[in-house]
Amino acid sequence: MKPLLEVKDLKMHFPVKSDKLFTKEKPVLKAVDGVSFTVRKGETLGLVGESGCGKSTTGRAILKLLEPTAGSILFNGEDITNFKGEKLRKLRRQMQLIFQDPYASLNPRKTIANIITEPMKIFGIPKAERRKKLQQLMDVVGLNASHKQRYPHEFSGGQRQRIGIARSLALEPELVICDEPVSALDVSIQAQVINLMEDLQKEFDLTYVFIAHDLSVVHHISDRVAVMYLGELVEIGEANELYQNPKHPYTQALLSAVPEAGAEQKKERIILKGDLPSPQNPPTGCKFHTRCPFAAEICRMERPVLKPVSEGGQMAACHFAKEVAVAEMV
Ligand code: SF4
Ligand code: MG
Repeated sequence: MKPLLEVKDLKMHFPVKSDKLFTKEKPVLKAVDGVSFTVRKGETLGLVGESGCGKSTTGRAILKLLEPTAGSILFNGEDITNFKGEKLRKLRRQMQLIFQDPYASLNPRKTIANIITEPMKIFGIPKAERRKKLQQLMDVVGLNASHKQRYPHEFSGGQRQRIGIARSLALEPELVICDEPVSALDVSIQAQVINLMEDLQKEFDLTYVFIAHDLSVVHHISDRVAVMYLGELVEIGEANELYQNPKHPYTQALLSAVPEAGAEQKKERIILKGDLPSPQNPPTGCKFHTRCPFAAEICRMERPVLKPVSEGGQMAACHFAKEVAVAEMV
């Protein structure tokens, strides 16, 4: 089956101010540096990594809120990288964003009826239809439709995220980019919102890219998971396989800190050396070499590419992915 979304060698480089006065080089921040992956229709791809690794920037590039420096993005088989004007406007209906912070993303001066129906208004959907759809959307996300004239501050955090979700579904999108949709919520509320998102996915045949740093949440909701480090994709695979048998040392370290994930094997927590390097001045070769317990000479010199590491389609970008996996098992 044709993937719904294909991201090919995506680069997002941003100019930054130089601290050197006399230099001809223009320094750039390589927020995303050659990332490729696909998302199948109806699945959830989890995108994980520490803050600043390029997850949100990747999400915004897919939505065409940011212009890529290089690479391409295909949606339903069509190259959308250079979409502008009316084509871009039409595309916007098919892709939506759920924000991290429901407090910040809802206009405090608008009633939730206005907030939820606004995207439909922008696309010229007639009033009667908007009204009908509002009722339906409030129902499916579990909001009391008689509260539609209230303002965002009158709702709890979880309810506000439901408002945000209703709004994102107003135009019946195919793809929803969820950027840390539950990280601002209490743990008990997180589960409710995640369950709601799963129900909505089935009901409306949605495809999710689910960006988060909480690995347990990502495991729960994702079919496949992609791990990013300093603007690069270091591992991708089917969620259960990747969580049970991570092949990249960075993924192993991340997962070793999650109590639930390695419970069976009683994995020891892997403490990484040093701090996360600055994305403005990343290490050469494998960007993880400054913190990797398995780093060797080649790691400082050559950037490893994503290679298949299992029969189930798991891929890792590490010169020693296979050896590392064996070392972990003994
Ligand atoms: Fe570690 Fe080398 Fe693999 Fe990078 S390529 S993850 S430094 S072993
Ligand atoms: Mg982010």
